[in-house]
Amino acid sequence: MNLLLERITQLISTPSISAVVPEFDMPNRKVIDLLAGWLTSEGFAVQVLPMTANGQKANLIATKGKGPGGLILSGHTDTVPFDEGKWQSDPFKATERDGYLYGLGSADMKSFFAVAMEASRRFDASKLKEPILILATADEECGMSGIRALQKSGIPKARHAIIGEPTNLRPIRMHKGVSMEYLDLIGRSGHSSDPTLGRSALEGMRRAMNAVVEVREELERSYRNEGFVPPTTTMNLGNIHGGDNPNRICAHCQMQFDVRVLPGVDLDKVRHTLHDRIRQSIEGLELTFTGGPLHEAVPPFETPADAAIVRAAEELTGFASGSVSFGTEAPFFSQEGLPTIVLGPGDIAVAHQPNECMELAALPRAVDLIASLIARFCLAPVG
Ligand SMILES: [Zn+2]
Repeated sequence: MNLLLERITQLISTPSISAVVPEFDMPNRKVIDLLAGWLTSEGFAVQVLPMTANGQKANLIATKGKGPGGLILSGHTDTVPFDEGKWQSDPFKATERDGYLYGLGSADMKSFFAVAMEASRRFDASKLKEPILILATADEECGMSGIRALQKSGIPKARHAIIGEPTNLRPIRMHKGVSMEYLDLIGRSGHSSDPTLGRSALEGMRRAMNAVVEVREELERSYRNEGFVPPTTTMNLGNIHGGDNPNRICAHCQMQFDVRVLPGVDLDKVRHTLHDRIRQSIEGLELTFTGGPLHEAVPPFETPADAAIVRAAEELTGFASGSVSFGTEAPFFSQEGLPTIVLGPGDIAVAHQPNECMELAALPRAVDLIASLIARFCLAPVG
């Protein structure tokens, strides 16, 4: 077996599930240590950055070559949990079948690390005018705490960044931002025979939901980006809980919804508008309103179409850059002033499900592509 496949196999057989539910959550340290060992042996200077006191969750920064600038190749080390019994083969054993390699994280996105290392092997550190930086993060799949920690401690000041999420090797330069929000109305219970005996949170929620939909429709009318499907900011009223009996006035009602904002739409402003409108809508009902994000939001991301990294990726792949509907760590790099694209082997459609796989033929193409980008940006920097 060649080195590339051997490494992917080892990464897949090193479980690193991250999950909000503690019983499914695992450390990623073993994957970080595997990468650290390989990268060190290949002449990278490796920093492991523990995120927890016991060091079991960690990020990694590896640098080959010296000097300012450079090209970041970044990915997350964690995977989502898997459906027990729904896989045709062991999710932790890389299995070849019909031209595909099956395994948890094969597409999303352990293979990318092996690809990035394989591409880097083609370059002698002493010949690099700008460094190659390989970054590996923890907990991307549950709140992105790894990249948030890395951002706090300092994302390296490179010149460009590539996030190797599965895009079928097509360059992506934008995605929407996502926030999960709640709104909570508290009133007072009472006998249903006389509405004045209580303060109905459900009556309030009826109005509040209309207010949310009104804001959504205003955003749909005022701001579009045809690079997305759908081309608008969306809000999905996802769940609602309130009340307990038809003959009791409902004292408490909570609704949860997601907001997916287009690049250029300020999520904080949208939330502010939503809360103002909700407050207005329930005026006079004597209800207490609270609301806000359930988790930290993933910001929207957009790199200009004329950025050098976008142009180079388009030229080398033959595909025009586009958008994706999933969130990535890319906005955190953009926020640090790094022109960033998302570009990697594999298909997002197979990720997060049983029998996740990577097309074997895509791997050498990915190595060639990443090597060409390294050559473009680290051998003869274009600025
Ligand atoms: Zn991913």
